[in-house]
Amino acid sequence: MSAAARAACVVGWPVEHSRSPLIHNYWLAHYRIAGAYRREAVRPEEFAGFIAALAERGYAGANVTVPHKEAALALSVPDERARAIGAANTLWFDDGRLRSTNTDVEGFLRNLDACAPGWDRDAHDAVVLGAGGAARAVIFGLIERGIERIRIANRTAARAELLRRDFGNRVQLCGWDALPRTLATAPLLVNATTLGMEGQPALAIDLSPLPRHAVVADLVYVPIETPLLAQAKARGLHVADGLGMLLHQAVRGFALWFGTTPGVTPELRALLQADIAKRPPAKPA
Ligand code: NAP
Repeated sequence: MSAAARAACVVGWPVEHSRSPLIHNYWLAHYRIAGAYRREAVRPEEFAGFIAALAERGYAGANVTVPHKEAALALSVPDERARAIGAANTLWFDDGRLRSTNTDVEGFLRNLDACAPGWDRDAHDAVVLGAGGAARAVIFGLIERGIERIRIANRTAARAELLRRDFGNRVQLCGWDALPRTLATAPLLVNATTLGMEGQPALAIDLSPLPRHAVVADLVYVPIETPLLAQAKARGLHVADGLGMLLHQAVRGFALWFGTTPGVTPELRALLQADIAKRPPAKPA
């Protein structure tokens, strides 16, 4: 690599499943940028040392995946998004300081903007299924966009209760049993559970109560068209899939490390679609 070349990596344990190298190496080639993006398999007990030597290893920054996202937050200066979610997935150097963010927020929002333009124009209300890390990113994004009421349904009520505590009174809890009634007034439904993912139980939910103009987003991206999205499409609703979110969440890191804001194009999407078809079972991004 030349002196001008920059490098970034995805750090995880294990890390083979990560599709980030496919995305970033596509962009490096597409924009003819002299740089590299690698996988770094780092054990949890070695993570702090690896991050302390990140710059020495020649990295301008990194993506962080399971199980290091919480540790990455603690070892960096996080922005408001990463702090609110409690996990960082993107690291970069700014004036010698290691900073962090969580790009799932913008991945979720930009994908919705692309798939259902104007979705937030009159949306006062949203229903979110799930209360894990992904649901936190979704809720943070919805609050950022001014959505007034976010109703959360989760298998474990205590976990949903934590979200109400952390995100305030725009967040309301609702039981799974109450979903048919709840959906009747929901312009946006988001699945942020693992249900519907390959190897997981299906998400058994009837979308017929949703209003005709509703948008349905699924964070699951293996399969790309989940049964939830298939049901929504059959009803003629707008949909936003998890692959779109995965691609949009990668944009910020690339821009920070390599100085070019890349595009999420049909060609890149097709590359990922082919990879998912080839090696379907994947862990979270
Ligand atoms: P997580 O923290 O492990 O949370 C999992 C969520 O799924 C929890 O709400 C959990 O409920 C629920 N769940 C799991 N099994 C269930 C079951 N059998 N019945 C009912 N609920 C169940 O995971 P996460 O990091 O938030 O990720 C959630 C999903 O988002 C994953 O599919 C991940 O791949 C996807 N994701 C996608 C992107 C993207 O870019 N497209 C980014 C981030 C995440 P309990 O609280 O009751 O356990």
